[in-house]
This record gives sequence, structure tokens and C-alpha cells, in this order.
Amino acid sequence: MATATAHTSGHPVGYWSRRDDGRLQCDVCPRECALADGQRGLCFVRAHHGDTLVLTTYGRSSGFCVDPIEKKPLNHFLPGSPILSFGTAGCNLTCKFCQNHDISKSREMDTLMDRAMPETIARAALTAGCRSVAFTYNDTVIFMEYAIDTAKACHAVGVKAVAVTAGYMKAAARRDFYALMDAANIDLKGFTQDFYRKLCTGELDAVLDTIRYVKHETSCWVELTTLLIPGQNDDPEELKRLSDWVAREAGPETPIHFFRFSSRLQDDRYSANAARDPVSRLRDRDGGRPAQRVLRQYP
Ligand code: SF4
Repeated sequence: MATATAHTSGHPVGYWSRRDDGRLQCDVCPRECALADGQRGLCFVRAHHGDTLVLTTYGRSSGFCVDPIEKKPLNHFLPGSPILSFGTAGCNLTCKFCQNHDISKSREMDTLMDRAMPETIARAALTAGCRSVAFTYNDTVIFMEYAIDTAKACHAVGVKAVAVTAGYMKAAARRDFYALMDAANIDLKGFTQDFYRKLCTGELDAVLDTIRYVKHETSCWVELTTLLIPGQNDDPEELKRLSDWVAREAGPETPIHFFRFSSRLQDDRYSANAARDPVSRLRDRDGGRPAQRVLRQYP
């Protein structure tokens, strides 16, 4: 799927193939966007430029923050330590309940104010007393080359790499990405295909494949997160099936963090979209209560 034509210069990347019609197909995630020269994929940050695909956000960040690692959330990886968090812009899913709309749906590259190359980020983590760096705020997989290079720079100075992601990837990209990640929090957004298709325009099976792969084929520590949205994915039977699957396929030692949905985190600039699509922003789902962890509040 190609969604936009715009300025597309950037860092040349891999994980693409050429189609018979000359378009380049991105093979990072199951969307397999087929892009003519000058077009961007649905994530908006991978683009066809000249004779290759490029990552338009390499070396650019939407912001940095030192967080407690439990905020990622990771409760069993370097517990009690600070982590340097950063993200870029765009996303390869279209979740109507996104809590980071301003970043994940950004079409304004000016949102990306900070320029930082991998070695700079690794040094900044050390200077800030952080033992790890998190790729977070928007989905890591769409800027995987930037994340991988940053992970390598971090490892060179003894800093760990952490991915916060929805796990929506294809096999080859997934293998190379998780080979460099020390820990990950992977969203398991619901446990029905219907939920993923209607609310995220994604596929549940691809996410389950990622969780299985990372748990059984890598040394990356994994925790999972599910955002509970009233009436959408919180049916007790569905949650039992989700929990049973995690215990059976990922192992009973795998933590799941359940979060409570808050429509207050839906950005007002998307009100026009909400009027067009009453499900968008899901404003009626929580009575506008502030966001709060269901099981544990930090600290
Ligand atoms: S990573 Fe982006 S460009 Fe590539 S297939 Fe997914 S949405 Fe499309």
C-alpha cells in the first residue's frame, strides 16, 4: 500500500524486493507496501527514492527522555534503573485507540526536532547514568536500521538496547532486529483477528509469530502489554484465551502488563477524524478518566 508522495530523501535501507511493474516492495512488515519512485509507505517514513528504499527518519528523533525502566513497561529487566527513551515518527499500524497520536500519525517532519546519530545517543545514555536505551513512543520496527545501529553503538559502551513495539514484522527483518535487542515489550493488543483488523488494520497471527520467535529463538527478554478497551478486547473469555496462549506458547514466566484505556490521551487534532468515524478515538469507552495502570502504578 502506498499512501503518499512527498520529499523522500533519506538513509538507504534493506528489506525490499522489486516487483515486475518496477515498484519496490517493503518487506519489513506484513503490509508489503509497493512503492513507486517518490512514494512513502503507510508508516510514512520508509520511501522509494531513486533505485532504493530509504528511511527518512534516520538520525532524527521526536524527543528524548530519561524514564524509569518500569515505565516502558519492563519490570524484570534492569529493575529500578533509568532508561534513555527516544522515538521518531510514524507507525505501521493504524490503531484507533493510539495513545501517542501526535507522534505515530505525524506527517510533519518538523515534529522531529532533535538530530542524533547512534554514537551520540549511546554517549548520552552513559552521561545520563542510563544502563539502557529504549526505542519507544512510535513503533521501532519502521526505523529498525536506526535502532540496530544505535543498539550496536550502545553495546560498544556497555549499554543495553530495549524495543517497545507492536511486533508487526516479517521474518527476515524480525530475525535481524531481535538479534540486537536485549529486551522488548511487545504489545498483544487483543486476542481476536476481528480486533486487529477493525481497529488496527493488522493481523493477529503475525504478532503471535513474533512473540513465539523472540521467546524461543533469541536471548531477548520479553514482557507483553495489553491495553484494555471496554467493549473491544476486555471480554473475560477473550482475556482467558489470551492468558492461556501466553502461558502455553511464551511460557508462564512471561509477564503481561494490563493497562486501562483513557480517551483523554487521544489528541484533539483528530476530532475531524472522530466525527467521520465514530469508533475513532473511542471517546465513549472510559468516561474520559485519566490513564492508570491496572495492576501496578509506578513507583
Ligand atoms: S514498514 Fe512501512 S513501508 Fe514497510 S511494509 Fe510496513 S508500513 Fe509499509
